[in-house]
Amino acid sequence: MTSSAPLPSELAMVPFVSVENMMRIVNTIGAEKILAELAEYIEADFLRWEKFDKTPRVAAHSAEGVIELMPTSDGETYGFKYVNGHPANMARGFQTVTAFGVLARVDTGYPLMISEMTVLTALRTAATSAVAARQLAPRNAKTMAMIGNGAQCEFQALAFKTVLGIETVRLFDIDPQATRKAAANLQGSGLEVISCNTSQDAVSGAEIITTCTADKQYATILTDNMVGPGIHINAIGGDCPGKTELHKDILLRSDIFVEYPPQTRIEGEIQQLPEDHGVTELWEVMAGTSKGRSSDNQITLFDSVGFAIEDFSALRYIHDQLERTGHYVDLDMIADPDDPRDLYGMVQRAKG
Ligand code: NAD
Repeated sequence: MTSSAPLPSELAMVPFVSVENMMRIVNTIGAEKILAELAEYIEADFLRWEKFDKTPRVAAHSAEGVIELMPTSDGETYGFKYVNGHPANMARGFQTVTAFGVLARVDTGYPLMISEMTVLTALRTAATSAVAARQLAPRNAKTMAMIGNGAQCEFQALAFKTVLGIETVRLFDIDPQATRKAAANLQGSGLEVISCNTSQDAVSGAEIITTCTADKQYATILTDNMVGPGIHINAIGGDCPGKTELHKDILLRSDIFVEYPPQTRIEGEIQQLPEDHGVTELWEVMAGTSKGRSSDNQITLFDSVGFAIEDFSALRYIHDQLERTGHYVDLDMIADPDDPRDLYGMVQRAKG
């Protein structure tokens, strides 16, 4: 993206992508095509990893959940996401995760776009999972177990179908209604969908296991005996201090791949391990400087927590779709007096 190129809209206006327009973008382009294109944007940004400013996200924890800010910049464009994680929200009829984000020019500091990111986070998380699995999953994997059938579930299933060629998903959730919802939504997707009564049943015959459950505690979604040799685990639900999904013994048998170690040490499954336990950064595998999967028997674990660069890629992607789709509105966000110093005069003249 060239941040110097203005959109067709007025320069003082900031394009805003509402939830409604995000859904239009997804339905115009197609969910699977977006997931595949997003995967390319994420890979491209992971391949220029060293260019980005990186910091663990800034988290405000409460008893109910967490509110986080996730900033990054490639020197030309700046982005941040506001995101929450409130596992008890679902019971109140609210989303567990909601988000919005901003992309801005570094040279002027002016915002380039504001976007909803609840739908976009589900898309980028799924695309990132698939990008990681492309490096780490057993070759020709065809079956994935999906434990946790909430908001992220169908996006994950479709990304693995599109990017990796997964043909069968085996669903399990402690709430059968969630599994019914996911199975119904995936009907007609081309995936074979098998609803399971237990997590043990769900993982049977699966080469990839995705865990995307939400619980603000150290949960044990997978126990050691459920993970055989050669499996790839895509663990996305453990993403906060005190919130994990895997039994520690699984971690000790796995080769662990992470986004940004300083953040994952705080938030990921590896918070259960000593600080010096070795992990591999995913971008290095993509760049060819570290090994991904190197044997058929190896257990690979993508300990995903979600990192700012993935959101940057997703915002960059949506920004590039604005002209193509026209699905945005202009927001009057930037004060624009004729004389930049005459801010007060502008307010006075608005009296009419
Ligand atoms: P959600 O609340 O919509 O769904 C979570 C599902 O997990 C629910 O259906 C719930 O019944 C189920 N569940 C809870 N405990 C379970 C258990 N023991 N076994 C099986 N199922 C269980 O949440 P969501 O939006 O789908 O997010 C899922 C998790 O992923 C959250 O913890 C969220 O913070 C995390 N997340 C991570 C990333 C990332 O980048 N790594 C991105 C988005 C969300």
